Amino acid sequence: MNFLSAEQLMWRDSVERYVDKEIGREYIRKCDMDRRHPDEAFQKIAKMGWLKLPFPEDVGGDGMSTLDYAVMVEMLSKHGVDFGVAITLPTFTAMNIALHGTPEQKQQYLPAFFAGEIRFAVSISEPGSGSDAANAQTRARLEGDHYKVDGQKLWCSGAGLKNTVIVMLVRTDKSDKRKGLSVLMIPNTTPGLTIRPLNTLARRSITTTEIFLDNVSVPASQMLGKPGDGWKIIGGEHLQLERVCVAAGYVGAAQGAVTDALNYAQQREQFGKPIFEFQVIRHMLADMQTQVDAARLLAYRAADMADKKVHCVKEVAMAKLFASETLQTVSRQGIQIMGGHGTLPEADMERHFREGMQATIGGGTSQIQRTMIAQEMRNR
Ligand SMILES: Cc1cc2nc3c(=O)[nH]c(=O)nc-3n(C[C@H](O)[C@H](O)[C@H](O)COP(=O)(O)OP(=O)(O)OC[C@H]3O[C@@H](n4cnc5c(N)ncnc54)[C@H](O)[C@@H]3O)c2cc1C
Repeated sequence: MNFLSAEQLMWRDSVERYVDKEIGREYIRKCDMDRRHPDEAFQKIAKMGWLKLPFPEDVGGDGMSTLDYAVMVEMLSKHGVDFGVAITLPTFTAMNIALHGTPEQKQQYLPAFFAGEIRFAVSISEPGSGSDAANAQTRARLEGDHYKVDGQKLWCSGAGLKNTVIVMLVRTDKSDKRKGLSVLMIPNTTPGLTIRPLNTLARRSITTTEIFLDNVSVPASQMLGKPGDGWKIIGGEHLQLERVCVAAGYVGAAQGAVTDALNYAQQREQFGKPIFEFQVIRHMLADMQTQVDAARLLAYRAADMADKKVHCVKEVAMAKLFASETLQTVSRQGIQIMGGHGTLPEADMERHFREGMQATIGGGTSQIQRTMIAQEMRNR
């Protein structure tokens, strides 16, 4: 079965060519090694008009389907999922404005984002609320026409980059765990914010941060949706789109890892022959490719179901779970196949491995995905 149409396959090929020719794996590697945001690539992609592709036409987007977008994320991530995330995390965060923003908010933010002038980071997690994301305690109190925000957020990727607006889950009401949550849009230069980079294993080019908020004043007009809509916005639609996108990204990176391992195995000679000739290596590669193909089909299915607007919590969780674990597995095996060479940054495999370790944690851990799958199985 070929899941994609001829047009989608052409789109896939053109994104792949663009990444290889116009961006290049050396650039992506260097951004990771230098812990530097791939700003030049972000700007190039904005100029190509690709930041606006998945947005509805009534806000100036191209109305691209989730499946076509997933195909794009897959190819953007072929040399590293964090590069794909650097482009797509602001996109699927900005999508919240397209879906829930007022006409003024859409006008304020979306044209500037499509032009590459601003970025978005999403700040859900806190020291005390990781998997239990709805337990967020960062407090926003309405005083006149401003919210005063106090608290601490953790693990916010990209919050410290220039011209970034943080889309933050805050607590506006203590009486109800989920209905007491709201979303505020806070430019990262707002007084009272302190943003500190964290030296995490992955997400090096985007940089993950912790954020301290001390009496941060945010106009009430910067609330997305109504007070109490926070969990519906972030816990529902946002995370669904995020998980479909990252699943596709993990597939792209995992395929990159398998292709590199395969090429290496055919070139590297030991005991007078290519190591590919050893059955143990060939079988390892066969398992790796089988797993990547299965992950790809799960990711495409989830994206297709999201396009058809059918209930797909289980399928999205399966795609995220399997694709993230696939990236972890194939990059670990890729290092094994490459031997010592696989541990060097130049081989790119250690980066896939580090990013694979993050993949089963960020956006909801593997344990949480399994819990959601089982919950959905029981409900039907
Ligand atoms: C590099 C990086 C970037 C990130 N970027 C962002 C970002 O941009 N924005 C953002 O908001 N967050 C971000 N995160 C946070 C990420 O979403 C959380 O780390 C994740 O949700 C897990 O939360 P935790 O780390 O607090 O782990 P915990 O929730 O403390 O979990 C610890 C362990 O317990 C398990 N566990 C917890 N609850 C259950 C349960 N009910 N059943 C079974 N097992 C359970 C978990 O699966 C895990 O194995 C990022 C994290 C990292 C590492």
